[in-house]
Amino acid sequence: MTYDWLIVGAGFTGATVARRLAEDAGQRVLVIDRRDHLAGNAFDEVDEHGVLVHRYGPHAFHTNSERIWRFLSRFTDWHPYEHRVRAEIEGQLVPVPFNFDALDACFGADAPRLERALRAAYPDQVHVPILKMLEHADADVRRVARYAFDHVFDGYTHKQWALPPHDLDPSVTARVPVRLSRDDRYFLDTYQATPKDGFTALFRRMLDHPSIDVRLGCALGDLGTDDRWRRMLYTGPVDAYFDYAEGPLPYRSLRFEPIYQDGPTVQPVAQVNFPNAHAYTRITEFRHMTGQTDAPGTTRFVEYPIAHTPGETEPYYPIPRPENRAHLERYARLVAQEAPHVLFAGRLADYQYYNMDQAVGRALALFDKEIAGG
Ligand SMILES: Cc1cc2nc3c(=O)[nH]c(=O)nc-3n(C[C@H](O)[C@H](O)[C@H](O)COP(=O)(O)OP(=O)(O)OC[C@H]3O[C@@H](n4cnc5c(N)ncnc54)[C@H](O)[C@@H]3O)c2cc1C
Repeated sequence: MTYDWLIVGAGFTGATVARRLAEDAGQRVLVIDRRDHLAGNAFDEVDEHGVLVHRYGPHAFHTNSERIWRFLSRFTDWHPYEHRVRAEIEGQLVPVPFNFDALDACFGADAPRLERALRAAYPDQVHVPILKMLEHADADVRRVARYAFDHVFDGYTHKQWALPPHDLDPSVTARVPVRLSRDDRYFLDTYQATPKDGFTALFRRMLDHPSIDVRLGCALGDLGTDDRWRRMLYTGPVDAYFDYAEGPLPYRSLRFEPIYQDGPTVQPVAQVNFPNAHAYTRITEFRHMTGQTDAPGTTRFVEYPIAHTPGETEPYYPIPRPENRAHLERYARLVAQEAPHVLFAGRLADYQYYNMDQAVGRALALFDKEIAGG
C-alpha cells in the first residue's frame, strides 16, 4: 500500500496526529505500534479478576485546555474523577500535596499557629513551592517547609530517581508545593476525569476512520518494501531511531506488582505514597480512578522504580538533569537533518515528560504549524 503518512506509535501523540491528518487534511495514514495494543502507556485492560487496570501505571486525565478537552470528548464520555493522594508519614496517612489537614495530623496542638503563620506569609496564594518556603524569614514557615521536605519530598524523590533532589533539574524539584488550604485534590485543573469505557476504547474510536489503517505488533523495522509513505511521524525513542549513535539517553523504569483482593476497595483514596519506608514508592487502587462497580474485588499496583536498560525494561521517565538536556541536543542535530520527511514528537521522541493533555496539545500544535501550515 502507498500512504501519505506513516505514524510510528499509537499513543496520544501518534493517534491525535493520525486523526487530524485523516479528517482535516484528507491524508491516507498507516499507524503502527510495536506493542500488540493501542493507547501507548495509557493502555488499560481488564485483568484476570475482572478489574480494569492501567498496565503501565495509573493514569488520571487532567487539563485546563478547553480545546484538548473538547477534542478528546469526541471519542469518549467521561467518568468524573479528581485524583487524591495520601502519604504514609509516621504511621498516619496525610494529604499530598501537604495541606492544612496534613498540618493538623503532623503538628497537633502547634498546627493552628503554623497555619496562621502560613496564611500571613502568603495571603493570596493557593500553594507555594517547598523550596521557596524553606527560604522564608519566618521560623514557623520554615519549620513546615522543612517537615514537608524531609517527610514527603526527599525520600520519595531519592527512590523515584535514585538521585538526591539537588542533582535533578530545578524545573522538577522547584514545583513541589505546600497547599495553603484544606483542598486535598492532587490536581486543580478545570477538567479532570477518566474515560468512561477506558483509555483503550477512546483510542479505538479516535483511530476508527476510513483513511486510517492500524497495524499492531509492528515495529518500524518490520515494515517491508510493500509499504510506502511520503512522510513519517516518529513517536518512539529518539536515540533508538538513530541506533544510539550519540549513546543511549538515560531513563528511569518501573516494575509493577499487582495485588488482588475480593470485596470493596481497601485504600481511602486511589494513591498512597510511601516516601520513607519500603523499596516501593506508591500503591494505586484502580477502582477509585475508573469508577468500576461490576468487579468482584479490587486490584492495586505496587510500584517500584528501577534502573532502565534499553531492550530489557520500558523507558518510563526521562531523567530531568542538565547533562541529559545537553545529551539530547546532540540528537537534535540529527533530528533536524531528517526534516521535513520525518517529524519527531511525543514523550520518547522529544525526551520530555508530558502529561497526557500535553502530549495531545503538542500533537495538535504540530499538525497546525508544521503539517497543515507547513
Ligand atoms: C507511570 C506513569 C504514569 C503516568 N500517569 C499520568 C497521569 O496520571 N496523567 C497524565 O496526564 N499523564 C500521565 N503519564 C504520562 C502519559 O503516559 C504520557 O503523556 C503519554 O503516554 C504520552 O503519549 P505518547 O504518544 O507521547 O507516548 P507513548 O504513550 O509512550 O506512545 C509511544 C508509542 O510508540 C511505540 N513505539 C516506540 N518505538 C516504536 C517503533 N520503533 N516502532 C513502532 N512503535 C514504536 C510504543 O510502543 C508506544 O506505544 C504517566 C506516565 C507514566 C510513565
